[in-house]
Amino acid sequence: MLVNIDEIKEPGLDRRWDVSREALDAMVAGDRAGWRAHGGVQVDAHLEKVERRVLLRATARADLEADCRRCLLPVAAVVPVEFELTLVPAEGARAEGGQRGDHPHQPVAGSFDADEAQEEVFRGKVIDLDPILREQLLLALPGAPVCGEGCKGLCSVCGGNLNERECGCVRTVPDPRWAGLSKVKL
Ligand SMILES: [Zn+2]
Ligand SMILES: [Zn+2]
Repeated sequence: MLVNIDEIKEPGLDRRWDVSREALDAMVAGDRAGWRAHGGVQVDAHLEKVERRVLLRATARADLEADCRRCLLPVAAVVPVEFELTLVPAEGARAEGGQRGDHPHQPVAGSFDADEAQEEVFRGKVIDLDPILREQLLLALPGAPVCGEGCKGLCSVCGGNLNERECGCVRTVPDPRWAGLSKVKL
């Protein structure tokens, strides 16, 4: 998803992209909850130029899938992502690091709250939204889902899916960590 800043005219620029399932899969790869692409992701972005900075507002709907954390069956979910950030040209970016410690009482320009106004630096005339979307998407990902509140999970003895049938295993196995304690003489 590339935008040339010269395309952004006075009223702002609205763009929509459909990111493929393969590209979405690469973006969420390695997520701890195991989210993977089920379909693609649709991204709607609005860009506005304010002096040399670019304000970006975007919403996306990622069509994802992850394994139920109890029974491991795949669960599909559409994860909404919404973000707003300021893109700052590299040439005009404030020097990062060091300065804040040197001037602890210097007011931060516009008293931006770091969470409210995120900044990203771009170089040249072309803004690549892919890494930005990836970052925001990873932030928006929920933990591993459950297929339903009533999911009974897997039997700890035979591994059978307890939603499908009750296997009859005795699952009240004494915890081996406590078994050791019974031998300790107090
Ligand atoms: Zn489940
Ligand atoms: Zn069982």
